[in-house]
Amino acid sequence: MAAPLVRIFSKSCRQICRPWGACQAGWRSRSTHPATETSTDQGVVSFPPLQTFSEEESMMKEAVKKYAQERIAPFVSKMDENSVMDQEVLTSLFEQGLMGIEIDPEYNGTGSTFFSSILVIEELAKVDPSVAVLCDIQNTLINTLFSNLGTAAQKEHYLNRLSTDMVGSFCLSEAESGSDAFSLKTRAEKHKDYYIINGSKMWISNAEHAGVFLVMANVDPSAGYKGITCFIVDRDTEGLEIGKKENKLGLRSSSTCPLNFDNVKVPEKNILGQIGQGYKYAIGMLNEGRIGIAAQMIGLAQGCFDNTIPYTRQRKQFGQRIFDFQGMQHQIAHVATQIEAGRLLTYNAARLKEAGRPFIKEACMAKYFTAEVASLTTSKCIEWMGGVGFTKDYPIEKYYRDCKIGTIYEGTTNIQLSTMAKFIDKEYDH
Ligand SMILES: Cc1cc2nc3c(=O)[nH]c(=O)nc-3n(C[C@H](O)[C@H](O)[C@H](O)COP(=O)(O)OP(=O)(O)OC[C@H]3O[C@@H](n4cnc5c(N)ncnc54)[C@H](O)[C@@H]3O)c2cc1C
Repeated sequence: MAAPLVRIFSKSCRQICRPWGACQAGWRSRSTHPATETSTDQGVVSFPPLQTFSEEESMMKEAVKKYAQERIAPFVSKMDENSVMDQEVLTSLFEQGLMGIEIDPEYNGTGSTFFSSILVIEELAKVDPSVAVLCDIQNTLINTLFSNLGTAAQKEHYLNRLSTDMVGSFCLSEAESGSDAFSLKTRAEKHKDYYIINGSKMWISNAEHAGVFLVMANVDPSAGYKGITCFIVDRDTEGLEIGKKENKLGLRSSSTCPLNFDNVKVPEKNILGQIGQGYKYAIGMLNEGRIGIAAQMIGLAQGCFDNTIPYTRQRKQFGQRIFDFQGMQHQIAHVATQIEAGRLLTYNAARLKEAGRPFIKEACMAKYFTAEVASLTTSKCIEWMGGVGFTKDYPIEKYYRDCKIGTIYEGTTNIQLSTMAKFIDKEYDH
């Protein structure tokens, strides 16, 4: 096995050190962002293509690609079969700094950017979309909520742990409230300096391993969604029960569990952000999170494609490679174009977000489109492989199962389309 990436640059670094992490002081100041414009000889200003990466981004992408091949790929099939995330994979994600990508090095994080997170999720999804979603939720939802809203004490405690050894879960959905998320029924009743939470949550990703849960509960149902508040609930809190994980079609090694809250006592100091602002935080995070899911879908599609094309170049029928049939080539070129288009939508949404420009419509488009592309790609890849594509001897059928979730979580396809339509409607107001 290759030397862990963490050791490559580790001698001069403090504590947990990653090639793109604590050692990056020099690099980041050099090249955190790609150049936004360049001058040509003729004095004409040109802009770099969307797939231009900073030095740090390129390095991270390459390092994660190698890491995923060496440290995750050997476990994928077994993890899928047993519906279990291997502890070694989980530990290595922390070691590599991939669970605290944007967290400040002050809290042991990698101190990188949102765009780097997107590249990491894409690279991980090429190898295993279950690992990608673990990393995605931690980085784009949990860490961001703590970083943006946490008090000094909350950040000190949780960000340090989230970077190094603690998984977090985001708890919004309930049995009766999915797309209509803010009709949630989980109640948090105020007592002196604490709250009592009662209710239940459903579909909570990573709950099997999570040490902390960010729970949306209503402190004042008479105020409707304006009572929704975000609570930090530690795993070992009395009255919190983590139910049996779902037996799913895909993403089988990513745990998805129901949670039950039976008089769970949470101190007032465990409110994240402001009382009654939970709905705003959830909307904001999910808007960003959708770009992460788009990256997961595009990585998945690319991973499936990469595992299929070599077969079509080797397999012979009618005395020639099946790749050489024009009927195959046109389909392959069409799918490659769809993947490229999805990637550009995803990168564009991520760059807009990072630039502080409006990105919600573009994030919805990216998530919607990449989920479609992943479905098309995985379905076509099975067909191109013929009978063997339908077996577990190749990874293609797993990608086919894993991709379906892209049309469901972090807002179903219909919800993405409705949100886009709202923006389009507004654009024609004048
Ligand atoms: C594997 C997995 C992991 C998940 N992880 C998490 C997690 O970590 N945290 C969390 O909080 N939640 C999580 N979820 C929940 C997920 O976000 C919801 O499943 C999703 O929002 C859809 O809600 P629902 O399942 O209740 O479907 P419903 O809302 O009942 O939707 C069913 C169908 O009705 C359609 N529909 C509903 N409303 C409308 C409308 N207004 N217009 C048009 N069509 C509509 C939907 O598009 C869909 O096709 C996860 C779900 C899964 C399956």
